[in-house]
Amino acid sequence: MQNDDGTQSLTDVLSHTSEVLAGSQKCALIPNRSHLRHAETSLHGDLPGDGLGLTQTVKHLLKDITPALSAASLSPNYYGFVTGGTTPAAHAADILVSLYDQNPLVHLPDQTIATTVENHALSLLMQLLRFDRSQWSGVFSTGATASNVLGLALAREYTVNEAIKRRGGSENVASIGLLQACDAAGIESIDVYSTMPHSSLLKAASIVGIGRSHVHDVSQGEEDLHFDMGKLADCLSRKGQKAASIIVISAGEVNSGLFATKDFEDVQSIRDLCDKHNAWLHVDGAFGIFARILPRNAATEYVIQGAEGLELADSIAGDGHKMLNVPYDCGFFLTRHASLSQEVFQNSNASYLTAGGHGIVSPLNISIENSRRFRGLPVYTNLVAYGLHGYRDMLWRQMSLAREIAKYLFHHDAFQLLPDCLYRSDDDIERNVFMIVLFRAKDEVLNKELPTRINQTSRLYVSGTRWNSEDACRFAVANWQVKPKEDSELVQDVLDNIVNDWTTLH
Ligand SMILES: *Cc1c(COP(=O)(O)O)cnc(C)c1O
Repeated sequence: MQNDDGTQSLTDVLSHTSEVLAGSQKCALIPNRSHLRHAETSLHGDLPGDGLGLTQTVKHLLKDITPALSAASLSPNYYGFVTGGTTPAAHAADILVSLYDQNPLVHLPDQTIATTVENHALSLLMQLLRFDRSQWSGVFSTGATASNVLGLALAREYTVNEAIKRRGGSENVASIGLLQACDAAGIESIDVYSTMPHSSLLKAASIVGIGRSHVHDVSQGEEDLHFDMGKLADCLSRKGQKAASIIVISAGEVNSGLFATKDFEDVQSIRDLCDKHNAWLHVDGAFGIFARILPRNAATEYVIQGAEGLELADSIAGDGHKMLNVPYDCGFFLTRHASLSQEVFQNSNASYLTAGGHGIVSPLNISIENSRRFRGLPVYTNLVAYGLHGYRDMLWRQMSLAREIAKYLFHHDAFQLLPDCLYRSDDDIERNVFMIVLFRAKDEVLNKELPTRINQTSRLYVSGTRWNSEDACRFAVANWQVKPKEDSELVQDVLDNIVNDWTTLH
């Protein structure tokens, strides 16, 4: 290893960071092909015997690699995936996370404040999202996918164990394993009922041994993600004691941004069904859970109602790296079954790791990892720096932009706002639209090319998707920097130009 002094290289990285953050170093939304090709040819394929040293290597990073990275997180005009961004406060915290390199999975209050900080971050988050801290326990994860895995693992444990108890047994899945436990419970399948679930829920079902084909869609129709309650009740009773059941509410569907439940009463009737059938209620609220932070008024009431009643669930998956605008990776998992979490995730054999005290459970006993980064610090920092009103303002700007874009599309002859059945007037837009706008071009040929044509302008980025078996396009607004007026003018200009070019050509 070459022993060059790292000071200059670190200074170079930090000044690059401040130039990018101040906007004096411009980043393309998506790197151009020549930057990508250059970066690829610059990569070292052979492990050097003597390393290149820090100075040379950092030059390589700044000169060859960073120009080929996407600026999705850095720009308010990236509307592809729901990526969110990183606020200045979270950036600052994340630098410290790397510098101090804590592993906050064992609660060691005499050695580091890290676990206590994460515990406070979770408390602040629950205050933001209106969950009662005395009822709910929480933990940070890598994202909503991991939190869905945590949710289904607990759901599996609970539902199968309950079935064993009904037969007078006392074993549990965590100790005897799923196969023997299902045998003891007389259970032939574990079924998940949801409406337009995110793909990660199927992945989670595969990971925990439920199986992708046991995730069932019980929505009202291809364009309506509300539960068909009759069908749901039927499914739960038909399988009787031979099946364990899990219901998952999509609180924020990824294509439309809409909610699977309409209000508190909707969730209450699902809860009643769960109680009747010993089913578990999980919520995938990756981004939608944040509707709960909005102040109540005519413009927000309908959206808030979509996230109302979620406190009746058994577990909730949420994302930090989306609407909370902290860097990757950060998700969170909340549950009302703290002791069940410890039964499933306990790192039982390593007694030297079971330190505790002050009411804080070591996160390694309630989550997947035994080691991970101090990802609660950027969350703590953001919540303290911006507070409830800062987050409300951020979300309202995102919703305002989404609504401006939706109104423009609704009134434009060339476009159709989706789901079509939902929108008859501007009032419907002012009521329903959260922070995702789904649409298509009426011309089939243009519709196919639309995402590519928009993204080729390099002025904004959207993602192509499918809706109701047709190609569609989607704006997902999730960045803290959004300015509704300026950004909607940009969107309109880009789309107007595309339509004008298209009509001139055809
Ligand atoms: C993004 C998203 C996920 C997956 O989240 P990751 O953070 O990518 O793991 C799950 N569910 C919904 C509804 C999402 O929007």
